[in-house]
Amino acid sequence: MDLHSLVKDSSLIQSGAYINGAFVSAKSGATFDVTNPVTNEVIAKVADCDASMMEDAISAAHAAQPAWAAKTAKERANILKKWYDLCMENADDLAIILTAEMGKPLAEAKGEIGYGSSFIEWFAEQAKRVSGDVLESPFADKKFMTLRQPVGVFAAITPWNFPNAMITRKVAPGIAVGCACVLKPAEQTPLSALALAELAHRAGIPAGIINIIPGMDAPALGDVMCRDERVRKITFTGSTEVGRILMRQSADTIKKISLELGGNAPLIVFDDADLDVAVEGAIASKYRNAGQTCVCANRVFVQAGIYDKFAAALTEKVAAMKVGDGFDNDVVQGPIIDQQGFEKVERHVADAVAKGGTILTGGKAHEMGGTFYEPTVITGAQKEMQLYSEETFGPVAALFKFDTEEEAITLANDTIFGLAAYYFTKDVGRVFRVGEALEYGMAIANTGAYSSEIGPFGGVKASGLGREGSIYGVDEFLEIKLMVVGGI
Ligand code: ADP
Repeated sequence: MDLHSLVKDSSLIQSGAYINGAFVSAKSGATFDVTNPVTNEVIAKVADCDASMMEDAISAAHAAQPAWAAKTAKERANILKKWYDLCMENADDLAIILTAEMGKPLAEAKGEIGYGSSFIEWFAEQAKRVSGDVLESPFADKKFMTLRQPVGVFAAITPWNFPNAMITRKVAPGIAVGCACVLKPAEQTPLSALALAELAHRAGIPAGIINIIPGMDAPALGDVMCRDERVRKITFTGSTEVGRILMRQSADTIKKISLELGGNAPLIVFDDADLDVAVEGAIASKYRNAGQTCVCANRVFVQAGIYDKFAAALTEKVAAMKVGDGFDNDVVQGPIIDQQGFEKVERHVADAVAKGGTILTGGKAHEMGGTFYEPTVITGAQKEMQLYSEETFGPVAALFKFDTEEEAITLANDTIFGLAAYYFTKDVGRVFRVGEALEYGMAIANTGAYSSEIGPFGGVKASGLGREGSIYGVDEFLEIKLMVVGGI
C-alpha cells in the first residue's frame, strides 16, 4: 500500500516527532514501523523518540505556555476554529490515514474525524465561557472572588482505537483554555496524531503549544511525563492497568489526573423492550470498531421472556455483517488491531464454549486470515466465563439470561468497572429506576449510539476519573484560584 498515493495532500503524512513547531527525527535516528493491520505491510517509519526528546518537548511547552495563556480566549478560539476548519476540509485524507494504520472501515473512520473535530469546534466556543465568580463576602471591607486559570503544561497519552478523537478530546479543551501539551500517541497509530499536528501548525497554533512525541518505549516516555514537576496534569485513555501505573508515578509530583480506562459494559434487554430497537442498539454498541471500544457492550443480559427471540434476531443481523478490508465497500467490520488482541478474543470464546456456551454464529477466525474474527453471538453465557469479568475487546456478544429487574441491576453492577451501561425497556418508571441504580458514568436507555461532544464522557470505579467533552470538559484543565482583596 502506497499511502502517499491514496491521499490528496501527502504532506499530511508526517514521520517526525512534532516538537516546538517542527517535525524532527529521533536524536538517535531510530524509527519504528507503522503497519496496516489488514496486510501487515509497513506503511510508514516514524521517529522513535527517547526520554530526552520528551524532556525537550516539555521544555518547549513550558516556555510557550505563558504567552498562549496571555492571549484572550477569543484569540485562542479563533485559532482553534481554523484548526477545526482544516480538519473538516481534509477529513477524507485524515480518514484514509486512520483506516490505513488502524483498520476500521473507512465510513467509520470518516465518522471519527467528524466526531474528533467536533471537540475542537466545541472547545473553541467553550473557551470564551470560562468565568470565575464574585462571592458574597463575609467581611464588609474585603472582596472575595474566584479566578479560573489554566493548569499549565499537561501530558496526554492516547490509545489506538480512536487515533483521532482521543487526541482532540484531550488537546482541544486543554489548549483552548491556555494550557500547552506534550502527547504520546499509541505506537500502532502515530500517523493520525502527526496529521493533526500538521493541521494545527497550519492553523497557526504557536510552536510549543502542541507537541507530539511518538515512541515505542511507552513506559520510559510516560515516566518522564509523570515525574517532571513542570507537567501539572496528566490525561490518559487506555487500560486500567496502565492508568494505575500513571497514577502511582504521578504521586510524587501531585498532578491533577484524568483517566478514561477500561469498561465492562452491561447491555440489559427487558421483556418489555422494543425488539428491533434493542437489536439495533446491541449491534451499534457491541460491533462498532469490531468491538474495540471501551464503551462496547461486553455482557448482554436478556430477560427470560424475550431471550430466544432476541438471540435469533441478533444472530440474523450479525451473521449478515460484511467483514473485510476497511477500504472495501460495504465492509462494516475490519480486523482486530493485533495478534495479542485476536488471541484474547479466541481465548474468551474457547473458555465460553468449554463452560457450556452455545455459538449461534461466528465463533472462529474469519477466512480472511490475519487477525480477522467472525462476528459472534454466544448463548447460555454464565458468570464463571472469562468474558463476564474481562473486557473482550472483540466482536463477541455473550447473552446471559435473567428473570427480575433486581437481578439485572445486581449483575450489571457486579464488576470493578463503571463506564457505560445500556438498557432497553419501554416502561418509563423502569427507565428512571434502572438508570439511577446503575453504578456507571453513563447510563444509556433505548439506544446504543450516543457519542457526541455534548455529553460528558467518563467512568466511575476502576473506569477512571474526570469527564471529557461537554460543558464540564474544560474543568479538568483549569484550577480555581481564590482572590481576596482587603482594605476596601
Ligand atoms: P491498549 O490495550 O489499548 O493498548 P494500553 O493502556 O496498553 O492499552 O495503551 C494505551 C496507551 O498507553 C498507548 O499509547 C500505550 O503506548 C501507552 N502505555 C502503555 N504502557 C504504558 C506505560 N507503562 N506508561 C505510559 N504509557 C503507557
